[in-house]
Amino acid sequence: MAKKQDLCSFCGRPMHNLFAGEGGAFICDECVETGHMMVQDMRAKQENAQQNNGLDLKTLPKPADIKSFLDEYVIGQDEAKRFLSVAVYNHYKRILQPKDDGVEIEKSNIIMVGSTGTGKTLMARTIAKMLSVPFTIVDATVLTEAGYVGEDVESLLVRLLQEADYDVKKAEKGIVFIDEIDKIARKSDNPSITRDVSGEGVQQGLLKLLEGSVVNVPPQGGRKHPDQEFIHVNTQNILFICGGAFDGIERKIAQRLNTQVVGFDAAQATQSIDKKNLLKYIAPQDLKSFGLIPEIVGRLPILTYLEPLGRDALRSILVQPKNAITKQYQKLLAMDGIKLVFDDAALDYIVDKAMEFRLGARGLRSLTETIMMDIMFEVPSAKNMDNTFVVTRELAEKKINKADTIRLRNAV
Ligand code: ADP
Repeated sequence: MAKKQDLCSFCGRPMHNLFAGEGGAFICDECVETGHMMVQDMRAKQENAQQNNGLDLKTLPKPADIKSFLDEYVIGQDEAKRFLSVAVYNHYKRILQPKDDGVEIEKSNIIMVGSTGTGKTLMARTIAKMLSVPFTIVDATVLTEAGYVGEDVESLLVRLLQEADYDVKKAEKGIVFIDEIDKIARKSDNPSITRDVSGEGVQQGLLKLLEGSVVNVPPQGGRKHPDQEFIHVNTQNILFICGGAFDGIERKIAQRLNTQVVGFDAAQATQSIDKKNLLKYIAPQDLKSFGLIPEIVGRLPILTYLEPLGRDALRSILVQPKNAITKQYQKLLAMDGIKLVFDDAALDYIVDKAMEFRLGARGLRSLTETIMMDIMFEVPSAKNMDNTFVVTRELAEKKINKADTIRLRNAV
C-alpha cells in the first residue's frame, strides 16, 4: 500500500512527481498542470468580460425580455418596441460576435419617427436602464458645422463619456439618443436649387459618428481648440438611436404611395391604405425626400414609427406604467401618511384636457402637476384630516380653471 506522502492530496492517486506544501499536503505534476490550465482559462474569461464591460451572451436579455421590460414603462407602440428590442439585442450580439469566421455582423443604428410626446425618448431611456450601459440624450438642433455658433458633432460624445465616468471602454459600448434629427434635414430635396449648407454639413459630420470611426472628443465639451488634448473615442460599437417628429412627412409618404399604386388594381390598393396613420408605411426614401442625405439614411437601417396616442392610451399612461404620474404623486403623499386616490372621472377630465390642448402625453404631467400643487402645499400640514385624500373631477376642474391656460399650453 502506498504511504500517505506518496499520494496526491488533490487527486488522491499514488504519484511519483509530488510537490510538498504546508501542513503535509502534496500535489502531483498532473494536478499542477490541470490547475494551471484552469487558472489561464479563468483569466481569459475575466479579461473578456472586462473588455465587454460585463456583457455576456448568456445574461444578455432576449428580445422578448426587452419588450416585456418596455411594456412595464411604455404604453402601446408595439411595433416600435419589437423593432427596438431586436435591434438592441442584435447590436450587443454584434459586440460579442466571434471574429474568426469572416462573417461580420453590421451595425444597426435605429431611427424612430413619431410626433413629440409619443414615447421615443422614454423607450430609448428604458432600454438603457435595463442594460445598464451609459446612455445620453442629445439634441441635434444644437449642432452646427465648425465655424458656426453651436456645438461640434463630436461634442455629442462628451456627455456619454461623462455618463461613463470618463471610462472610454465603457462609453464605447453605450447608447446615444439623438433627438430632433429631423431638424438638421436639408430644407429642399434638390440641393442644387436651395443649398442649405449648414444642415447638410452637420449631417456629414454625424455620418462619421454613425458609421463608426475614431473621434477626437474635447473632454470639456463645447467647441474644439487647436491646442486642446482630445480623448479618442471609437464609435464602432456605440448604438445610435435617432428620433424625430418629421412634421409633414405624411405628405411625402402619401405622394410615394400614390405614385406607386398606378395601374390595374390601383383603386383597390388605395382603398386599403389607412389614411389616418400614414406613418406606418414609412420607408427610407421618405426620409430622403424629407431632407436627410442618403448616406445618413443608409446608416440608420432600422426604421420604425410611433403611433399617435389616442384617448385610451393617454388614460393608461396616467395610471398604468411602473412609474406612472399618478403613482408618483401617491408615493409623495404616502410619505406624509396620506392615501391619495384619483377618481375615475378626474382621470377622464385630465385626459380630455390633454386632448383639448393638444398636449399629448407630455401634457398629462403638467396638468396633474397643476391640480396637485395646492394639495401638496396644504395637505402635509393640515390638522385633523382623514388619511385618505380623493381628487374628484370637481376639484380637478377647479384647479385647472384657476390656472393660467396659456402657461399650461406652453408647459411642455
Ligand atoms: P418623445 O421623445 O416622443 O417626444 P417622450 O418619450 O419624451 O416623447 O415622452 C414624454 C413623456 O410623455 C414621457 O416622459 C412619458 O411620461 C410620457 N409618455 C409619452 N409616450 C408614452 C407612452 N407611450 N407610454 C408611457 N408614457 C409615455
